[in-house]
Amino acid sequence: MGTGRLYRTDGIVIHRRSQGEADRVLRLCTPSGKVDVLAKGARKLRSRKAGHIELFCRSSFVLSRVPNYWDIISQAETIEPHSRLQSDLLRGTYARYAVELLDRFFAEGQGEAALYDLLNHTLSWLCEADDEGLDLVARFYEQHLLGLAGFRPELFRCVGEHGTSEPLRVTKPELCRRPFGFDPERGGVLCPDCYQADRRRPDVVALSPRALHLLRACQVHSYSKLMSQAVPNGLHRELERAMHHYVTYHLGHNVRAAAFLHQIRRGR
Ligand SMILES: [Zn+2]
Repeated sequence: MGTGRLYRTDGIVIHRRSQGEADRVLRLCTPSGKVDVLAKGARKLRSRKAGHIELFCRSSFVLSRVPNYWDIISQAETIEPHSRLQSDLLRGTYARYAVELLDRFFAEGQGEAALYDLLNHTLSWLCEADDEGLDLVARFYEQHLLGLAGFRPELFRCVGEHGTSEPLRVTKPELCRRPFGFDPERGGVLCPDCYQADRRRPDVVALSPRALHLLRACQVHSYSKLMSQAVPNGLHRELERAMHHYVTYHLGHNVRAAAFLHQIRRGR
């Protein structure tokens, strides 16, 4: 083993598990998709590879292709360690949420350069943002990840029964008092009339005009424009609830890192 054809790729470590006495299996997000690879000897204390294969680390790998087995890491060199995600529990938990979402929405072999770039930027933003900015990083990431996975929520037209294709207006969100709805099953937002009609359906949740306005901004604005907005904490919690609801509905189960994030916040 280890004598197969060599190839080079950049990759971000999104998951690690032990394999046997000395090895680790790493799950990488690479520009050509998600892949599991073997780091031989990585669990030994003095392994030269150890620092280059930490969780969230972006590294350049030389891999050896092995038929009917994992490809084996021959060389690894750190490009960007994202080390603040290791040392800061809160930031690290946001990062765990990001990689868990990617891992759940994309199967082995799936993914593309845009997904790799999105994750790489998101991990860097999670290192650099203020504590108050972490939620916006998460919301921006969700919208773009869901888009790449084919689950982009429809936020600009009502997905309710009346079925009009007219764009849904949220002018002056601070003046508009009637809540909109968010319907994961139909994949998007409900106008206030459809929300009133459908609010008793178990998966439909209310969405304030300000929350809808900000979710739309996550889809259409650049990250730097988005981060120039000051967002009250109550609005962050509303957006987080709505998006966790949407994500859980489409995955069919809870996201572990999201539950852990709630625990950490409660403990603060
Ligand atoms: Zn409607």
